[in-house]
Amino acid sequence: MAALMTPGTGAPPAPGDFSGEGSQGLPDPSPEPKQLPELIRMKRDGGRLSEADIRGFVAAVVNGSAQGAQIGAMLMAIRLRGMDLEETSVLTQALAQSGQQLEWPEAWRQQLVDKHSTGGVGDKVSLVLAPALAACGCKVPMISGRGLGHTGGTLDKLESIPGFNVIQSPEQMQVLLDQAGCCIVGQSEQLVPADGILYAARDVTATVDSLPLITASILSKKLVEGLSALVVDVKFGGAAVFPNQEQARELAKTLVGVGASLGLRVAAALTAMDKPLGRCVGHALEVEEALLCMDGAGPPDLRDLVTTLGGALLWLSGHAETQAQGAARVAAALDDGSALGRFERMLAAQGVDPGLARALCSGSPAERRQLLPRAREQEELLAPADGTVELVRALPLALVLHELGAGRSRAGEPLRLGVGAELLVDVGQRLRRGTPWLRVHRDGPALSGLQSRALQEALVLSDRAPFTAPSPFAELVLPPQQ
Ligand code: URA
Repeated sequence: MAALMTPGTGAPPAPGDFSGEGSQGLPDPSPEPKQLPELIRMKRDGGRLSEADIRGFVAAVVNGSAQGAQIGAMLMAIRLRGMDLEETSVLTQALAQSGQQLEWPEAWRQQLVDKHSTGGVGDKVSLVLAPALAACGCKVPMISGRGLGHTGGTLDKLESIPGFNVIQSPEQMQVLLDQAGCCIVGQSEQLVPADGILYAARDVTATVDSLPLITASILSKKLVEGLSALVVDVKFGGAAVFPNQEQARELAKTLVGVGASLGLRVAAALTAMDKPLGRCVGHALEVEEALLCMDGAGPPDLRDLVTTLGGALLWLSGHAETQAQGAARVAAALDDGSALGRFERMLAAQGVDPGLARALCSGSPAERRQLLPRAREQEELLAPADGTVELVRALPLALVLHELGAGRSRAGEPLRLGVGAELLVDVGQRLRRGTPWLRVHRDGPALSGLQSRALQEALVLSDRAPFTAPSPFAELVLPPQQ
């Protein structure tokens, strides 16, 4: 895909160049800023928004003059009518410029890397990868997100650790990177506030699955980080925002192309999201599983994705000669305890009591469970027949857990952090009728008949011989000139 270039220069703008000279919008002939209803109508009718239009909309979102209904209507118009690459690029810049640009010591320039995901079920890769990359000598100033739709959010997962504070100022982030090499923070009034508002609105207006909105949301957060390289994990499959690989590839190419137009080196990995990643879904349960992965153990699909994405990043940023060499370095950081050490430092630096951070990182799985929020009840589901586990469908599982309080139906709603589910079986394994295959952790009453049926239908059995589950990784879309 051809990279978008700064007009007149033939070169992409420098990362974080917010001068506006590199903007991609068409000249706006009308000096009068348009009113929001007119902008919404233009997009609703399939028109193209100019740079001034997009910046006007984003300014109204941030200064509070846009009503909730207008924000929702514009998001829906964009969701239905789309945006071209230039509009998407301008929207990305406008969101990024709604807050502060992060600035780091010159010596860090080549070390700054990050990873982001389009959203999955059981996806706790960021919790492991940020400290693993720090252990490999990188600086990871990760601005992450909350749950979106049925997918879980990294910030919500981390907030299941008592004391963990996702709101950090740019100055505090620099201290965190100094101390731990990584931090995981959320949008704030200082950091990409416009994306914070739009993200929460998308979650409750059925406008999550929009290629330009996903692209602008992800890249705006990454643009302010001043990165040397970014890897985006673009999920496809039954529980991903985009079910088929072709649509996901389209998103991957948009992310890489818009990134290049803004001077950000982005690679996108296409990875399967039909079954949950790992064996645990739910905030506190996923933190436990992330800790297990940093013990050098845990489910193979999780470790595989962490090392594959980390390997790609170390290669892209010049820290490894090949992707395989990078993956081996990340694997070593999981096995020798250095990733876990970085995670402990990050927890303590982001507000967790140092004793608790130590206990979580050095405790056994059973001890860890005592330290994190737990649901009141557990309920096991039994296999309805003999068979080989062909698939455990992630979407129905996520939707039931959402109903049990693991997800939000209204922006800002508190979550039940102990609610979740543990898969007791692996894909490819032989299962006997009556064997427990899923343990649901719930706070409320027993599962309803509808919920139990939805969960039982998530288990797909076949007559096949047992097999080894394939890696979720499918392909890597590289930036131009890689
Ligand atoms: N992550 C984000 O930050 N934004 C999206 O739209 C999807 C995933």
